[in-house]
Amino acid sequence: MSITKLNETALQSWVDRLIGQHQVYGVKAKGDRFAFGPLDDAAELRLDYDVTILPPKKYFLPQSQELLKFSRRGAYQPVGEPAPFVLFGVHPYDVVAIAQMDEVFSKDNHDRHYMQRREKAVIVACDVQKASPNVFAACMGTATVQEGFDVLLTRIGDDYLADARTPKGEALLQRIEGGADPDPASLARREQLWQDLNRFLMRHELKCAPAKLPGVLDQQEEHPIWKKRAERCYSCGSCNLVCPTCYCFDVQDEVDWDLENGRRVRRWDGCMLAEFALVAGGHNFRATRAARYRHRYYRKGKYLWDRMGQIACVGCGRCVTACTADIANPVEVFNTLLEDR
Ligand code: SF4
Ligand code: SF4
Repeated sequence: MSITKLNETALQSWVDRLIGQHQVYGVKAKGDRFAFGPLDDAAELRLDYDVTILPPKKYFLPQSQELLKFSRRGAYQPVGEPAPFVLFGVHPYDVVAIAQMDEVFSKDNHDRHYMQRREKAVIVACDVQKASPNVFAACMGTATVQEGFDVLLTRIGDDYLADARTPKGEALLQRIEGGADPDPASLARREQLWQDLNRFLMRHELKCAPAKLPGVLDQQEEHPIWKKRAERCYSCGSCNLVCPTCYCFDVQDEVDWDLENGRRVRRWDGCMLAEFALVAGGHNFRATRAARYRHRYYRKGKYLWDRMGQIACVGCGRCVTACTADIANPVEVFNTLLEDR
């Protein structure tokens, strides 16, 4: 696979060319923050963003997604196949989160709706240029990536290196005009940048290796932190919704007013919401805020590890920013559990 060096002008015309040929989603300014959205013009693209409000999982698992239409006569019609698209500017920690969701949705219960969108996507990743206020990706081993994307863009001075790692990525690079072969100095600077990101991309410091977390959590089910912090929890679910590794959803059938036709829809759900664990008969198996609060940390630090050997936190810091009660920082919780062993 090839690497191309391109200046800002060549980057802009490449993106404009892609916009002319495909649906392209990229990072745009939203007030003083950033969000993924459809790109109409390369000038809208902000690769200097710190973090997006929502992760790019919304393009594979939309907040609300129609799965099929049905009628009272028993006919049903599945939704059509999604169109191909380019997702431009995904940070490494989000690339890791997408790879984790790929595993969840492709193994055991193969999720056709997720996987069709995933197969239609070309991912252009982008190394972080500006640290967000709560990022701790360097602690989680997600500050840089070498796989899980089609092209990786890295800013080196005023230029970019575009590095294709898959045939889909290579095809995208073929549409660059005005690119050049990378010089050894630029490649060396990229190596140095990766080393720096892997060491320094952290505003909070986890005091152990992520692989130690399942063992720590094993011993701390009764720790007072669960009850104490949960007293301030609003059960708003924001920490779930902004998390790139949270994938829970609810499925509901919605019927038209004439009771003739309807549709099956799935929507994001979250384990911090009071009704998440409410089942038939009115029983709620995580009825207290403390039980839900504790569950979220076990889900991040142990349950996914037990199931597939991965920690379900990539250190994006979105939950820390989103939590009005200031109790959602995984680093603070995990460090307290560590210290109190
Ligand atoms: S738990 Fe928080 S920091 Fe970790 S991946 Fe989810 S939103 Fe990001
Ligand atoms: S964002 Fe904060 S207040 Fe809201 S559910 Fe999560 S921990 Fe509770």
